[in-house]
Amino acid sequence: MTAQIIDGKSIALAVREGLTPRVEALKAKGITPGLTVLVVGDDPASAIYVRNKDRACKKLGMAGTVTRLAEETTQEELLQIVHKLNADEAVHGILVQLPLPKHIDEQAVLRAIDPDKDVDGFHAMNAGRLMNGEEGFVACTPKGVMRLLEMTGVDLNGKNAVVVGRSNIVGKPMALLLLQKNCTVTIAHSRTKNLAEVTRGADILVVAVGRAEMITGDMIKPGAVVMDVGINRVDGKVVGDVDFESAKEVASFITPVPGGVGAMTIAMLMENTVEAAEHYAQR
Ligand code: NDP
Repeated sequence: MTAQIIDGKSIALAVREGLTPRVEALKAKGITPGLTVLVVGDDPASAIYVRNKDRACKKLGMAGTVTRLAEETTQEELLQIVHKLNADEAVHGILVQLPLPKHIDEQAVLRAIDPDKDVDGFHAMNAGRLMNGEEGFVACTPKGVMRLLEMTGVDLNGKNAVVVGRSNIVGKPMALLLLQKNCTVTIAHSRTKNLAEVTRGADILVVAVGRAEMITGDMIKPGAVVMDVGINRVDGKVVGDVDFESAKEVASFITPVPGGVGAMTIAMLMENTVEAAEHYAQR
């Protein structure tokens, strides 16, 4: 079997095009959806993500602002900026680029963001809403994976889903979203014994670990849908957590890296920001 390759790039483009009329409708009411990205320090990987987010905003005619702060910025200073943005009516989405320097408590900063402006969906309030099955902002990467899964047309009901990775920003919300769609979900992590045995049980396999090409074709059930969240730089090349060449011979659908999940993450961020501005317009 050779897998169908899920073209995240063109699906993301369609999502972004679908947002254009919503942005225009808001602008007609005098509201330009605004996203502010806060960057502390100069992590090179973050710089690329931030540039892409900013570009995506501009392309959609939204107001994208990037506030760059020095590595030495204190937690108190950062919290003050967040409070200011919470009160700013022109800002509908606030995103704090992670990771933050070690002297800053990430959770304290995320908790300070107004949950109605938390377009990354990382605030405990939004994480809790997802847990309870209530409306709220859903983290962009897992939300994007769900959208890509939808596009495959595969019925998720009753399927065995395995999520490798249990981070708050990808693995855990991913597992909850799959559970909402009635999958039987297993979460694997660094302490999981016999990982290959676990992954081979997956009809739907989502990998978010951060280890280049660690999931190989022999760890995948024939016909499985494979979603590769990983972004790893190896010898100047970007590769996923899945060994694409061997995996595509076994899977039914697979996302490439780059051009798969990553492209969707930014589209979902734009969608969340437009949604935040729409909620603001209704208030
Ligand atoms: P984290 O480092 O926060 O989490 C990694 C997870 O992988 C942890 O739960 C860890 O387990 C688990 N893990 C580590 N080693 C193994 C192993 N050998 N076997 C099984 N599980 C293991 O990473 P993130 O969730 O933030 O990101 C994961 C990957 O996704 C990265 O490559 C990142 O760059 C990428 N990413 C891509 C995005 C996109 O837009 N496409 C967005 C966000 C992230 P434990 O908890 O036990 O330590």
